[in-house]
Amino acid sequence: MNVVPPALERLIVDLSRLPGIGKKTAVRLALHVLRRPAVEAQNLARDLAELHNAIHLCDNCFAFSEDNPCAICSDARRNPDLVCVVEEPADLMAIEKTGSFQGQYHILHGVLSPMDGVGPEEIKIESLLARINRQQVKEIIIATSSTVPGEATASYLISRLVGRKVKVSRLACGIPMGMDIKYADELTLSRAIESRKDMG
Ligand SMILES: [Zn+2]
Repeated sequence: MNVVPPALERLIVDLSRLPGIGKKTAVRLALHVLRRPAVEAQNLARDLAELHNAIHLCDNCFAFSEDNPCAICSDARRNPDLVCVVEEPADLMAIEKTGSFQGQYHILHGVLSPMDGVGPEEIKIESLLARINRQQVKEIIIATSSTVPGEATASYLISRLVGRKVKVSRLACGIPMGMDIKYADELTLSRAIESRKDMG
């Protein structure tokens, strides 16, 4: 006999598909939503339903944005000569929080990982190369994580940028090996941007 009402069971199944949410947590969250006033569940449902309609990728930097180009790409105060390459939107958010970067971003939406079938075509590398030409970018800061796939992605990018008229630097100093950029504290991250290593 199933003691869990089907509507609740469906929510538990949906929630348990989210990263880091096991079955136990999904049950706890679903019961929490059920115990709270109905209007809170309706607001949550509305926000979820509108997410894909409201938010798209910026055609220039591939950040999630309601506008195209995004607020950063269309901000005249940001330096279009300087582009910081990150793995994912959370990295952009972490760097923006430091307030110490005045250039633009390029979000790869992943890292090279041949074991998982992620090659250069699966992430936004070609569009970065095209953008460097189009926008006449003068400096690229590679801010992928210092994990194995992050380093492999950085090396690949550097190899593709050799011979181009663009300075390439790598965010390194102060970021420990294996560290994910988005978990670095603000001070470490802003120092890493300031003392980036020239890769030629
Ligand atoms: Zn953008």
